[in-house]
Amino acid sequence: MKVIVLGAGVIGVTSAYQLAKAGHEVTVIDRQVGPALETSFANAGEVSFGYCSPWAAPGIPMKALKWLFMEHAPLILRPKIDRAMLSWMLQMLRNCTPERYAINKSRMLRLAAYSRTSLAEVRAETGIAYDERMQGTLQLFRTQQQLDASAKDVKALAADGVPYKVLDRDGCIGVEPALKHVREKIVGGLLTPKDETGDCFKFTNALAATAAALGVRFSYGTHIKGLDVEGGQVRGVLTDRDRLRADAVVVALGSYSPLLLKPFGIKLPVYPVKGYSLTIPITDASRAPESTVMDETYKIAITRLGDRIRVGGMAEISGYTNDLGPARRRTLDHSVTDLFPGGDLRQASFWSGLRPMTPDGTPVIGPTKIAGLFLNTGHGTLGWTMSCGSARLISDLVGGRKPEIDAKDLAIGRYR
Ligand SMILES: Cc1cc2nc3c(=O)[nH]c(=O)nc-3n(C[C@H](O)[C@H](O)[C@H](O)COP(=O)(O)OP(=O)(O)OC[C@H]3O[C@@H](n4cnc5c(N)ncnc54)[C@H](O)[C@@H]3O)c2cc1C
Repeated sequence: MKVIVLGAGVIGVTSAYQLAKAGHEVTVIDRQVGPALETSFANAGEVSFGYCSPWAAPGIPMKALKWLFMEHAPLILRPKIDRAMLSWMLQMLRNCTPERYAINKSRMLRLAAYSRTSLAEVRAETGIAYDERMQGTLQLFRTQQQLDASAKDVKALAADGVPYKVLDRDGCIGVEPALKHVREKIVGGLLTPKDETGDCFKFTNALAATAAALGVRFSYGTHIKGLDVEGGQVRGVLTDRDRLRADAVVVALGSYSPLLLKPFGIKLPVYPVKGYSLTIPITDASRAPESTVMDETYKIAITRLGDRIRVGGMAEISGYTNDLGPARRRTLDHSVTDLFPGGDLRQASFWSGLRPMTPDGTPVIGPTKIAGLFLNTGHGTLGWTMSCGSARLISDLVGGRKPEIDAKDLAIGRYR
């Protein structure tokens, strides 16, 4: 089959790789000059199969109100007259009940567990390196209240069979030795030891090269203008250069996916939630993290990527803009120097990306009402983590094979 994949972020590239392996003739289209140059470029680097939860959770609306007034706030809201923003926020609020949270979390965990095995397979079959480490995620608590509140997460991890360890201060230092310099700032932590870390940009680029060797064609610098649909069947894609024919099309345009689908009456509730990161060269490894540390107070992830520290986080709801503000940079500077001052901040690169967020935290993977048109998008906070499982799934669905995990409730039909 001729398959066109729209988007060369981590989701598009992993999809193209799996589709090529399944024997399809694959073309990937992206407006950028290479793979992973938008949201997949400088994310926080966590591959967190265990530390994996929807943001819409019980208690979040109250916490969100508090965050809005905090210095170094994890949430920044810039309301606009934008129906898509308003409707997405209302849907997000509706997902904050305990019942919805439990359903959404179990969907995310199912896909994350599948992604763990799928990533391991990709690693084994390609041998690609991406500054990967397999040392877990440490969620770090600075107050007893945070440590006590983690009891409900511990219960959920136990129920879902996710390995974890609750650590006291010394236990945290045992896992992340650099914390010994700031021991008075921490009270304990929750370790998910099976989590991994790695550079999403390096991974996506290496996999794109492997996919190209398998015969995948990459058309970069090409703007997608629309879909060619006739009689309820997708026939191809319209770009600023060409009209390309296809038997199937996979939409993996991240935050931009809903814009392409809207003219065809497909309402995809994906909205951009901006995040920021800093990448800092390490000058003193004894004051750098070993793996990922998630600072619960600021909701900031601090990750070791080779000889760099990547610090990333914040959720800014401000529409389609990648502006970089000095206040956000101060928050990242503060978070990293407070715990891991082992890098040279003057040499750091500051970046922002738009997380393609669904209101229920789970991506949208599966067919649409248009025959031959598939979605693999809306991976929000955890697209790097979920990429390899999502790609396997979409490749099976496009090829008409039975997926290895239950996929019905991952498709867009769940919003009906
Ligand atoms: C600060 C931050 C930290 C994060 N940390 C983590 C983390 O630690 N772990 C994790 O798992 N996830 C993390 N994420 C989330 C993760 O980065 C995303 O979920 C993931 O990158 C989404 O990948 P994607 O391929 O869907 O989107 P993208 O990478 O944005 O790819 C979409 C592609 O579509 C192309 N495109 C869009 N519109 C058009 C058009 N009209 N024509 C042509 N091309 C087009 C773009 O150029 C782009 O290359 C983080 C995100 C942010 C912002």
